[in-house]
Amino acid sequence: MPKSSTRITQSKRSRSRRSASPRATRSAPSPSRARTTTRSAVTEPKAPFAIEAHRLIGHSVVQRATPNCGGSITPRYLVFHYTAGRSAADACDWLCNPAANASAHLVVGRDGSITQLAPFNIKTWHAGVSQWEGLIGLNSHSIGIELDNAGPLREAGAHLQAWFGGRYTKNEALFAQHRLDTGPKWWHTYTDVQVQRALDLALLLVREYHLLDVIGHEDIAPDRKRDPGPAFPLDAIRSRVLGRRDDTRERARVIAEALNMRTGPGTEYELAGPPLAKHTTVWVLEKSARWTKVDVSDETDLEGWVANRFLEPVTD
Ligand SMILES: [Zn+2]
Repeated sequence: MPKSSTRITQSKRSRSRRSASPRATRSAPSPSRARTTTRSAVTEPKAPFAIEAHRLIGHSVVQRATPNCGGSITPRYLVFHYTAGRSAADACDWLCNPAANASAHLVVGRDGSITQLAPFNIKTWHAGVSQWEGLIGLNSHSIGIELDNAGPLREAGAHLQAWFGGRYTKNEALFAQHRLDTGPKWWHTYTDVQVQRALDLALLLVREYHLLDVIGHEDIAPDRKRDPGPAFPLDAIRSRVLGRRDDTRERARVIAEALNMRTGPGTEYELAGPPLAKHTTVWVLEKSARWTKVDVSDETDLEGWVANRFLEPVTD
């Protein structure tokens, strides 16, 4: 897939597509690092994860089994949540406790570590009473990702306090109005690595399961839920993920016996891999007058430039 830099801006979230509600206000007192910082460009690591047998494989990924799951699903959506808790470890313990009657597929810690609690094709209990685009009960139709985050915070002297008593500084929070609320409040911010992990996971899961959309718990249960909330750059992530799908919609087929693929648009560039066999189907990533950048298939990360005259469009 394209290796362009990833730039997700936490502070520019709008919900124009789903709601005409006012955008989050940024009229907080005193400057805050989290409120105004534009994330620096992060180069996407090459294939940070893979999925095998509906389980995530990758660095800092561990598997743990929750009893709070059951029945197979064909996921259509990805739903993001915050844990509203003290730590990822606490969240995992709770979501593996039968008394919780709750679970999710993944829990992403503030250090980027990921715990998978159930395979992606098994129903977990993260959505509750919910609906989206005609579907009722999104547990049966979605993959749920919990992000370790304390949720909304209230002022307590010089600090901010979560519902469970955890204390935070204003540098760890964003003062913003949730699109579903009538006034602003403080929200615990997500870490940069969490946001990067969320993007990487969304890219992978949407591609692997052909998901239709990336949404929040607040979208499917707006009467009672506010997660992942205004501190999470959901719109930026979803446009990155779904935009990429649009970018790669065009396909082409190799008509040469063996087609050299190069690292740039010209014969002076090195070969990007073994030659492509005749009839290989590729995704079109970028076009110039004589060369096209292609992605060989969803199964590999192989991409490069090939001469236009050896490609024909695939129209089916
Ligand atoms: Zn939730």
